[in-house]
Amino acid sequence: MKYEDFIMNVPDFPIEGIQFKDITPLIGDGEAFQSAINDLAEFAKAQGATKVIGPDARGFIIGAPVATKLGVGFIPVRKPGKLPREVLTFDYELEYGKNTLCMHKDAVKPHDRVVIMDDLLATGGTVEATIKLVEEAGGSVVGLGFMIELVELQGREKIKEYPIKVLMQY
Ligand code: AMP
Repeated sequence: MKYEDFIMNVPDFPIEGIQFKDITPLIGDGEAFQSAINDLAEFAKAQGATKVIGPDARGFIIGAPVATKLGVGFIPVRKPGKLPREVLTFDYELEYGKNTLCMHKDAVKPHDRVVIMDDLLATGGTVEATIKLVEEAGGSVVGLGFMIELVELQGREKIKEYPIKVLMQY
């Protein structure tokens, strides 16, 4: 499957200078979406994942189907004010702007082997923040999966010590 055929580049969105990679044509195509989820699920299974985490919001689209395929739990990592119970929080810089991510304090157990799934690896700030939340909760991060890596932004430098699976590189 040539996934690149399903990605649309949108210049200057959401702000000038950003080449936004739109995954909606990929997830809008049944065959391409299923194939992408199967590829990422195969990786997560090989890592022995006991939980899958997806950061708000596109991480949900990828992480939840990967978790159900493996028969393991899915944990949402969300923006502040969205999770109803006690949370762990982490602040970080984005390619555009700043962000804070939160996770329920009791979501990850100390024995958990966690795979983190998101649509895109840019500067690596989002995945790094998610890793910090998992590790603060006492879990182990055993793999990171993305549909797209923006190679120039060198996000990989921040997450060198973890196994990584990407479906496309730009
Ligand atoms: P980062 O934290 O810099 O690795 O950014 C990753 C997050 O921001 C991902 O969850 C993406 O959804 C989003 N993102 C960053 N840059 C882009 C881009 N050029 N196109 C689409 N999404 C992006």
